[in-house]
Amino acid sequence: MSDSSLRLVWVYPDLLSTYGDQGNVLVVERRAQQRRVPVSRVDVRSDQAIPTSGDIYLIGGGEDRPQRLAAERLRRDGGLERAVANGAIVFSVCAGYQILGHEFVNDLGRPEPGLGLLDVVSVRGEGERCVGDVLADIDPQLGLPPLTGFENHQGVTHLGPSARPLARTRIGKGNGTGDGTEGAFNETVFGTYMHGPVMARNPQIADLLIKLALDVNALPPVDDQWYEALRAERIAAASQPA
Ligand code: GLN
Repeated sequence: MSDSSLRLVWVYPDLLSTYGDQGNVLVVERRAQQRRVPVSRVDVRSDQAIPTSGDIYLIGGGEDRPQRLAAERLRRDGGLERAVANGAIVFSVCAGYQILGHEFVNDLGRPEPGLGLLDVVSVRGEGERCVGDVLADIDPQLGLPPLTGFENHQGVTHLGPSARPLARTRIGKGNGTGDGTEGAFNETVFGTYMHGPVMARNPQIADLLIKLALDVNALPPVDDQWYEALRAERIAAASQPA
């Protein structure tokens, strides 16, 4: 972090923000404020330049055409790659996750280059769309409770050797590869198929990003009652037989 405040960047809300993904930035912002960490937030529309000095960048999901437009504009802009080179943290959901990989299949059925910030490639799944609740055990290295979320995607994401699966699914399709993996991450860049918004269902992820950005091992506890009630409700709902 290059000054005393935590700088959050919410990328392209005009193109990428389905299923309440904007909640992710609100939860990160709120949880920093609850710890009395000075926080600033910039919402960057797709006709604006991506600032390169942010600490945490959040990117949401989107439909196929906005996803292509977002990828074109992010490639042209180049700011997100520069921010990651500067050590920034990025958390991405669904279409945002696919854009951070090397390539995905666009709305015209053609391969579209991504930003190559995550070692993943997404193709269009041949089977049914992956839709429904997800319950997944996060990588033990990250040491967080099981994740809950909602997925809705046609894309299937294959991980290369320098991306680790973010989680293993107990319920749901995740990356859609049939191997039980969900999402991907490296040191500073994270991707998931989980909406919900995922930070409201799993505020521990917001805390993880804040800790990484501040380079601290722990944060003061906050009242998680509301989040825990939501988590319990969604885990119970996901565990119901179909
Ligand atoms: N358009 C992408 C897909 O269907 C992403 C969808 C989303 O972001 N919900 O795979």
